[in-house]
Amino acid sequence: METRELKRSANALRKEIVTMCFKSKAGHVGGSLSSIDILNTLYNAEMKHRPKEPNWPQRDRFVLSKGHVAESLFAVLAQQGYIEKEELATFSAFGSRLIGHPNNKIDGIEMNTGALGHGVCVAVGMAIAGKMDQSPWRVYCLMGDGEQAEGSVWEAAMAAAFYKLDNLVLILDRNGLQISGNTEEVMALQDIRLKYEAFGFNVIEIDGHNYEDLMAAFTIARHTKGKPTLILAHTIKGKGVSFMENIASWHHGVLNEEQYEQAIKELEEQE
Ligand SMILES: [Mg+2]
Repeated sequence: METRELKRSANALRKEIVTMCFKSKAGHVGGSLSSIDILNTLYNAEMKHRPKEPNWPQRDRFVLSKGHVAESLFAVLAQQGYIEKEELATFSAFGSRLIGHPNNKIDGIEMNTGALGHGVCVAVGMAIAGKMDQSPWRVYCLMGDGEQAEGSVWEAAMAAAFYKLDNLVLILDRNGLQISGNTEEVMALQDIRLKYEAFGFNVIEIDGHNYEDLMAAFTIARHTKGKPTLILAHTIKGKGVSFMENIASWHHGVLNEEQYEQAIKELEEQE
């Protein structure tokens, strides 16, 4: 997809996310809206994957380590044809496969995630396996910035550099907020770029809502040899809905009817 189409796709995905969260009175709408341009780029412009053949051995692997934004992944998987669009209406309902975290019973989902700091460790293991088999496929893993407080993230980062995993791309959704407030007040990341560089990563810093930036970063990562890449994506929590942007309480805030109508109206105006 080209930039224009990607923007149109992102807008449709944002509306889908807001609708899922409104109808279910659940979900993590703020972080889903900060992550969605990254997921949209991965599935529509970067990763090699086959929705009709979800277990295609040569597929690139994606792990949503910040698993609580599952609805953003479900929306993308429905757009791609891994699941039926109608199933999105069951999000978070009793008996639905679309629970509040990624679930590997669903085609296109590699692993169950949501215990923060866990997905990134498994992504590193997948990348090691790919290297051992000399496979061409790549591994992409999206992390949250609140998630960086988990010690296992740093064990994973150390191993990724040690094993020279140039088939691994970690993406950090740097929206500056976590469930309980500003990351720099809860558990400061400080200069996170320097930290990953010290761990041996190639770090690319971008605007995580800018499609030229996103596509260029993935291209640089693909051409980087001998070390893993971290894409430090600066984002806005709640991006696209004015009253949610940069407000920590929208981490998993529930929309009332009036807010839902306002959100959809704003997203339609952005089309
Ligand atoms: Mg965050």
